[in-house]
Amino acid sequence: MISKIKDFLGFDINVDKYKLSYDEKFGMISDEKKPDKWVFSTCGYCGVGCGLYIGVKDGKAVYTKGNPKHFVNKGTLCPKGLSEHQLINSPERIQKPMIRTNGILSNTTWDRVYSKVGDEFKRIAKEHGEKAIGVIGTGQLLTEEFYTLGKFVQLGLKTNNYDGNTTLCMASAVMGYKQSLGSDGPVGSYEDFEKANCIVLVGANIADNHPILKLHIAKNKNKPKIIVIDPRASKTSQMADLFVPIKPRTDLALFNGLCYIIMEQGWEDEGYIKANTNGYKELKKHLQDYQPAEVSNITGIDVKTLYEIARQFTAQDAVLSAWTMGVNQSFMGTDTVSAIINLHLLTGQIGKEGAGPFSITGQCNAMGTRETGFTSSLPGYRNFGDEKALKEYASLVNVPEEMVPTSRGYKYAEIIDAIDRGEIKALWIVATNPLVSFVNQDKLKKTLSKLDLLVVQDAFMSDTAEIADVIFSAATWGEKEGVYTNSERRCNRANKAVEPLGESKSDFDIIVEFSKQFDGVNEMLFPDWKKPIDAFDEWKKVSKGQLCDYSGITYELLEKEGGIQWPCNEERPLGTKRLYTPDIKFRTKDEKANLISADWFPMAEAVCKEFPLILNTGRTVEQWHTRTKTRSIDILNDLAPEAWVDINPKDAQELKVKSGDRLSLSSPRGRVEDVVVRVTQSVAPSTVFVPFHFNTQLVNALTQDSFCPKSGEPNFKQTAIQLHSKEVPDGLKFHEREVSGVIEHVKTVYEGVKLVEKEFAK
Ligand code: SF4
Repeated sequence: MISKIKDFLGFDINVDKYKLSYDEKFGMISDEKKPDKWVFSTCGYCGVGCGLYIGVKDGKAVYTKGNPKHFVNKGTLCPKGLSEHQLINSPERIQKPMIRTNGILSNTTWDRVYSKVGDEFKRIAKEHGEKAIGVIGTGQLLTEEFYTLGKFVQLGLKTNNYDGNTTLCMASAVMGYKQSLGSDGPVGSYEDFEKANCIVLVGANIADNHPILKLHIAKNKNKPKIIVIDPRASKTSQMADLFVPIKPRTDLALFNGLCYIIMEQGWEDEGYIKANTNGYKELKKHLQDYQPAEVSNITGIDVKTLYEIARQFTAQDAVLSAWTMGVNQSFMGTDTVSAIINLHLLTGQIGKEGAGPFSITGQCNAMGTRETGFTSSLPGYRNFGDEKALKEYASLVNVPEEMVPTSRGYKYAEIIDAIDRGEIKALWIVATNPLVSFVNQDKLKKTLSKLDLLVVQDAFMSDTAEIADVIFSAATWGEKEGVYTNSERRCNRANKAVEPLGESKSDFDIIVEFSKQFDGVNEMLFPDWKKPIDAFDEWKKVSKGQLCDYSGITYELLEKEGGIQWPCNEERPLGTKRLYTPDIKFRTKDEKANLISADWFPMAEAVCKEFPLILNTGRTVEQWHTRTKTRSIDILNDLAPEAWVDINPKDAQELKVKSGDRLSLSSPRGRVEDVVVRVTQSVAPSTVFVPFHFNTQLVNALTQDSFCPKSGEPNFKQTAIQLHSKEVPDGLKFHEREVSGVIEHVKTVYEGVKLVEKEFAK
């Protein structure tokens, strides 16, 4: 009442709310939220890896502020980082372990869930074999947790049917690096954005997805030429000197064509090629199918522009190519990554300041799971099938050699297919939400219902957690400690600021405690492990001498230096800015990189009379993945409350819709209703864009089961769809288009080439 009277009389009733007071670390800040302490940490959302402080007041996280001294972000944060503390006390948090009884999920004790899942896993292993247990992890855990989880799954549960949601975003980059350079590992450094003379961004909307990287480009004194290659004129295209609106999924033809021009014009670096690569002659012969007129026809890019882009690779001192999901999320993603790497190898634009083929990772610790995770390789980038590497790992961790798997098990999509066939009976999902993020949702739902047991380990009540039989309630960012590694191989420290909510536990504690259900496993795999540093110490030992060498890193050093880029060891005590400089050899048998001859293929599911448009999906800066972390943060939901569909004015006119109207989308697999329209020139006619975050407009109900045969990554980016408006319910008419490409092989189906790791790697 008093405040109402004050308001009526014209007093500022919010004066206390907006009052500022002085803080020693950050100057004037909100008085209401002034913390008792600031805890040094790292953002837990994306792979940029911004350094920050978590403000803690009365035992609760109340503030997030960018670390002004951190190299990555110099005090800045994007909207997600700025509000990150709010996720800790989200109403969506799962605070106790849960179990389903008579169809109802209810709270229970840790003892009950551990013994229920332990007993079921043992029964299933006995009746159907250990490989009847599948595990799907994440890129969100701390490195110590990844290492612990991978070791337990592969050596304790003895199943290699283990993969992570990183296969939905980074697997093609991993396999592309492996087949071209002999090992996974992003080549570049954020400093290269500051030093390059030309920056080529391919299928990478960094303005939305990695916004802090723009700061590094802004610091570049060379005024670099920025080329943005993307079918969509995203926010990132606004900063381009040259925007190249490529036809969807023709990128591999483009890079082959650019390599052809470089060879045709004699722009290649012969000395570098001779000293450092294999496969030049084969590539030259192979590229005869990718002459400029043909590539122009396939890609929609005029011949003059093709020459202009190719010319940059020889005209500029340092060319940096950076890519993300537009390249990776492709049924030929691995080969497309290798085609980008070819460009750099041919022109010697690698292993020097400002240059290199640089994959930007999606999740905060996608790198950590790639290095330690035991999914696409043995820990430390040791290849499956490499006997020497296997023996070395077994000896380092003191386990019998026969326990270490000799081959990779099923990839993510193969695990789903194996459930469908009845081969996998139990699935343990850790910190990921396939019921929004995976393709072909209708099929996925039916498949998951076939399981004997679905265990979900998560901090949030996700769509997938809602259908679980058992939930391990996990702690989240800010409640646990360890390290994350960002896109540029920088290992950053994430500290615990507050206690885990309710009875939730860190993922590290859950895995170590759960391992006690299995006779002798805990004692053998985790002897005396009490804290994440026990896993980190073993990881340092395991990674020593490998490309991802962490042996010189300590928690203290990470805080002192604001992160360290691996390899870090006695010779490189402060880490390494970039890979494949003259003193770091390629990780192939003969230490030379492989020039890969790979063909472009048209999309498996072409547009047709019934489904005449191409749907492209992606992200927006205000939301995170499937919104488990962001859907309860008001400011983010105010900024991006629901999905939308970007459509070209020409299509809008035909459908008789304007911005703000609503329409439906359909594909051969499903239908999504009630999506708000944005009419925009940023998408070409007959193409649309929809963000994938929202379970309310589940766009993955439309996407198809098409995967890169080498990496297993889904082809999220192109789906043939139809739009239905109120006035035009049957949708758009199919406009015959000129057929792209006359290359003979396009009549065949793309199957890739079977990747035998031991044949190309050390
Ligand atoms: Fe976090 Fe990425 Fe935003 Fe940085 S850019 S604050 S790491 S989400």
